Parts: sequence; structure tokens; C-alpha cells
Amino acid sequence: MKLWGIDLGGTKIECAVLDADKNLEVVARMRLPTESARGYEHILSQIKKLIDMVSGEVQEKPSKVGFATPGVLEPDSQLMKNSNTICLNGQPLKADLEKVLGIPVQLANDANCFALAEALMGAGKDYPAAEVVFGVIMGTGVGGGLVVNNKIIAGHHGIGGEWGHNILEENGEPCYCGKSGCVEQVISGPALERFYERTSGSRLSLKEILEAYQEGKNEHAVATIERLLEYYGRAISTLTNVLDPGLIVIGGGVGNIDLLYTEGYERIRKYIFNKGVITTPILKPKLGDSAGVFGAALL
Ligand SMILES: [Zn+2]
Repeated sequence: MKLWGIDLGGTKIECAVLDADKNLEVVARMRLPTESARGYEHILSQIKKLIDMVSGEVQEKPSKVGFATPGVLEPDSQLMKNSNTICLNGQPLKADLEKVLGIPVQLANDANCFALAEALMGAGKDYPAAEVVFGVIMGTGVGGGLVVNNKIIAGHHGIGGEWGHNILEENGEPCYCGKSGCVEQVISGPALERFYERTSGSRLSLKEILEAYQEGKNEHAVATIERLLEYYGRAISTLTNVLDPGLIVIGGGVGNIDLLYTEGYERIRKYIFNKGVITTPILKPKLGDSAGVFGAALL
């Protein structure tokens, strides 16, 4: 059986076809620009065009397709919300795709697809006994996805796994979500860069701040990375106390920082309930950019 997935991104739409009978081997992969500036109807027609192209390539039409979407389908209204591809918000995307394509479709948030793909095909392959896998995204934004027994837990409101908007800092920076001090406003890449600028009066990229931290001479860089480690420890220990995952995978640009897996792990140990005992593997992802589209196919 062929598994069809589409990753609907803000700039590109990617399709992948996996062969479930051949250990999820990739049979085809193609992309088209989203051209989201041309509006919602145009995005639907780009998706149709891409599926027609791939159908020609694999000499087979899909009987259903999974979609990784920015944002999520509100379970009650069946309308999209929280998408940074703005024109999708408020649209009945699932119903419209089924109309345009003439087949059933499954939608899931892209962070959830990342978590599912990493659990089944990526970092999770070495941990088949992990029933609960949490996929963390720490980059420009902070989000995540929860997979239990190889299934996404999207949740009652469709916000399952959205730890990025838990309150982490009392009286912290305002967030676009309407609250202040959210995890995303403390340990995302841009938030850390803003903290450095606020305290030092000059601008550096997170990469430069990290280099300055390693040289140990720039006190503001040291304070910024210390802030990351400490708040990361608090935030991930909270997650762990609730879900106690058998595996955590950390994607996104900030997730590349090696310190999170050494000193950061110690900070989780410092805050976790369990007398400081933690054995959860916390790993970098293995699928890179492909996690979204593979996760969509696995839906
Ligand atoms: Zn927020």
C-alpha cells in the first residue's frame, strides 16, 4: 500500500509517497511553490496540481492523503486556526480539500507530523518500546507534538502539545497569543536574541551569542545562555512531570545547541519530580526537513 503525504508550508508544498509494504521506502517526492499571496483558492489548486503530477510519476492515484498543516483544524467548527499562512485561517480546509481532490484527507498540525515521523521513522526507531514520544520544536517559535502508541494526540481543542504558550516567566515579554511570559517569549531564538540586546545594548545572532558564551568573556552572552539552560530545564521538567515520555526529540534551530543535551539535561534533573532521577533519552531529530511530509503520509 502507498501512503501519500503533503506538507503544506508557507513557501512550498511538498508531496511524498511511501511504500508501506517496503519498509516505508520513499517512492516519489515533488514540490511546488505555495504562492500563498495569491490566496486560498490558489493554494487548493496548487495542491491538486501537485497530486496530479505525482500521480503521473507513480502511475497511481491516491485513495486518501495526509496533510501536515501550519495551524490546526478546530475540532468543533472544522475551520483552520492558528496558522501563520494567514489565508488558511477560518477556512474549512479539510472539507474543501476533499471536494477538490474527491478523496478523504487527514489533517494534522506540522509539529504533530514532525513528532509522528520522528517516532516511527527517525530518532524513535532505536526506541521501539517508547509508548509516549514528545516532539519539541524550538526555533523561531516553540511548539510540539505528542505521540502515544504511534498515534498523534491532537487533543480536545486541537492544542495538544502546545507547550510553547505555557507561562514560564512572571511579568515576561508579551506574546502574540495575548498572554505574557510564554515559553516562546523566553527560549525561542528571537526571544534569546532580544534578551541579549536588552541587556547588552548590542545585537548578535544566537549563533554569535553562543560563540561568545563559549569564549567566556562576554557576561551578557553568558547570562543569555544561562537563561536558556535554566528556563529550558524548568519547561522540559514540567512537560516530563505530566507526560513522562519514553523519548523526547528536539527539532528547530535552538534544538541544535549541543549544550541542551548536556548541561540542559542537568537542569531538567534539577527540577524534575523523581528525586532527580531522569533516564529519558532526549535526542536531535534524524529526518531533517522530511519529517513534516513523512509524518503527513503516516497519518
Ligand atoms: Zn504565547
